[in-house]
Amino acid sequence: MGDSATFQRPPSVDALARALATQVDLPHAVLVDCARRAISQRPQDAAEFAQHLAEDLSVSLIGEVINATGVLLHTNLGRAPFSVPVGRRATAVEFDLADGSRGSRHTAISALLQMLTGAEDALVVNNNAAAVLLVLSALAEGRGVAVARGESVEIGGGFRVPDVMRRSGARLIDVGTTNRTRARDYEEACDVAENDITMLLKVHPSNFSVEGFVESASLRELATLEPVLAVDLGSGLLDSQAPWLPAEMRPLPSWVSDEPSVKQSIDDGADIVMFSGDKLLGGPQCGIIAGRRDLIEKCAKHPLMRALRPGHHALVPLQQVLLSYLERTVTERIPFWAMVSASDSDLEARAEQIIAAVGYGEVRSSLTVVGAGAAPGATIPSQAVVIPGDKSADLRHARPFPIIARVSEGSTWIDLRSVDTTDDDHIIGALSLLRS
Ligand SMILES: *Cc1c(COP(=O)(O)O)cnc(C)c1O
Repeated sequence: MGDSATFQRPPSVDALARALATQVDLPHAVLVDCARRAISQRPQDAAEFAQHLAEDLSVSLIGEVINATGVLLHTNLGRAPFSVPVGRRATAVEFDLADGSRGSRHTAISALLQMLTGAEDALVVNNNAAAVLLVLSALAEGRGVAVARGESVEIGGGFRVPDVMRRSGARLIDVGTTNRTRARDYEEACDVAENDITMLLKVHPSNFSVEGFVESASLRELATLEPVLAVDLGSGLLDSQAPWLPAEMRPLPSWVSDEPSVKQSIDDGADIVMFSGDKLLGGPQCGIIAGRRDLIEKCAKHPLMRALRPGHHALVPLQQVLLSYLERTVTERIPFWAMVSASDSDLEARAEQIIAAVGYGEVRSSLTVVGAGAAPGATIPSQAVVIPGDKSADLRHARPFPIIARVSEGSTWIDLRSVDTTDDDHIIGALSLLRS
C-alpha cells in the first residue's frame, strides 16, 4: 500500500482538542496548542501524538507528591514540606495596623527570631545564597574578606564561595590550609594592611565532612579579632539543644547536638549569621540573616534588597514556623521535625498495617538521611514497606499523588519516616492497584 492510499485527512484541531479533554485535565487552550503541534508535526498519528504531548505537559506540572525515598529534606522534592496557611485575603505584609501607615515586612519575624536566638535583628531574603550575596555586597564590597581554605567550598547548584564573593565585589583572602586553619592565620592576614580585611567569613561545610588531621578556628577565638565575624550556617538549626525534641530523643543524636546552630553562634560572638529557611528550620524556601542591628540595617538599605525580598507566600509560613518553635509545638506542626521524632515502633506498626491491608510485601529496617546537604553521613533508623521488583515507575504514576520510592537490592522500598501518616491510605491504594 502506498502512502496515498493510507493517508487520511488529519482531524481538525478543535475535534482533536475536544477528544483530548476526555483524557487529560488541562485548559482547553493548552489542548488546542497540543493538537495544533501534533497535526503539523505528525499528521499520520496526530491523535496519539497530541495525547502524548498533553500528558507530558500534565506530568511536568509541579504538584504534590509522596516522598517515600527516606531522604527527609529532598532537594528535588522541595526540601522541607510545610502546609501553606495563606488564604485569599490581602495580607498586612508591609502595613502597620497600629497607625495605618506603611510598615516593614521584617518587624514581626525579627521580633520572633530575637526571642528564639538572641539576635538583635533579622532580615529575610529569597534563599540563603541570596543572604550570603547580600551580606557580602552590603558589608564588604571593595574590601577583603578572610575565608579559611577548607571552607572555600561549593554548596551545590553552582553556589561556590569564591564566585559569590566575586559577584558581591568583595575580595577573597584565603587563609590557612585545606585541612587546618587556626585563629593565628586569620590574625596574620588581618595584620597585612593591603588585605584591607573588613570581615571574617566562616562557612559551614554542610555537605561533606573531613576527618583526620583537621583543625579550624572557633567562633569564640575569632570574635576577639577586629573585623565583622559573619557565619554562613547553611542548615539553620535554631538551637543545638533542640529543646523542642521529646525526652525519648535524649541524649540527642549527634547530627543535632554537633550541628553549629544559630543561637550558639550568636552566643559565641558571631556578628551576623545566614541560614536557609527550608533545611533544618523546617520552613519555606527563604534565607535568613540575623545578628547585630547596625549590620542588618545596612543590608536592609542595600539596593540589592529590593531584588531579593521575599513575598508573603514565604513570610507567612516562616512566621508560623517560628511561632511553633515558641509554642513548643514543633514536633506536631513542623513536618520535618515530626518525621525526625517519629518513633521506630510507630513506623513499624504503620508498615505492618499497610502490608496487612494490601496482602503482600514485607517490613524491613531502613536508614533515612536528613538530606539537603545537612548532616552528611548521619543516618536515622527507619522502617520500610518492601515489595519485590522495581515498581518505582508504577508508583510515580500513582493517583492522586505520585509516590517516589527507592529501589535497592532488586526491591522497591517505601520508607515511612519521610511519609506523613495521613498518606498511608494513598500508599495502600497504590499498592493494591499494583497487585491487581
Ligand atoms: C544550603 C547552603 C547554602 C545555600 O542555601 P540556599 O537556601 O539553598 O540558597 C549556602 N551555604 C551553605 C553553607 C549551605 O549549607
